[in-house]
Amino acid sequence: MENSLKNILNGYHHFREKYAKGDLSVMRYLSRYGQNPQIMVVACCDSRVDPALILQCDPGDLFVVRNVANIVPPYERDEAHHGTSAALEFGICFLKVNHLILLGHSQCGGIQALMDNRSIGQNDFISNWVNLIHPSDKGCNADDCAKQALQQSYRNCLTFPWIKDRIEKQQLALHLWFFDIESGQIFMYSQEEGVYKVLP
Ligand SMILES: [Zn+2]
Repeated sequence: MENSLKNILNGYHHFREKYAKGDLSVMRYLSRYGQNPQIMVVACCDSRVDPALILQCDPGDLFVVRNVANIVPPYERDEAHHGTSAALEFGICFLKVNHLILLGHSQCGGIQALMDNRSIGQNDFISNWVNLIHPSDKGCNADDCAKQALQQSYRNCLTFPWIKDRIEKQQLALHLWFFDIESGQIFMYSQEEGVYKVLP
């Protein structure tokens, strides 16, 4: 435990050295001119799937929302507290990102929870959250289920009027990506061919 804290403090010092030192630093620039990311990512909370690390991005490059199993819920305008939907609204309507990437991954614990525990409330929030996903193929394995979940999140994206509108006007492109933890490869869904293909 002490070591892990030491590691992140070392990381913090490296970060400051690389990004926040001097008048011309990245952070000074971003502070002065604000953020202007072109890409938004919906990713899982999984510690192995950090979009900024996988894509080797700098501060300011990605607008990211992470939740258990990288789910985009349907558009529901009610009194409930919709954190992911609020992030989507911020990224798409205010920052006007041009790309929205839904980043699924292999070995997803959230998807596994959905498959193991579909109807039993043995936790406070997780089951209810992952039950947003209704896999079309009930007998599929967790990784195939995670890919089906991406398709469902894609369909849910289109229930947001401002996402649908920006896609139709070709101001926003929606991408479904699946990250394989073991190989570190990303597979991209081809809408034309209906299959996942290795990202070149
Ligand atoms: Zn996950």
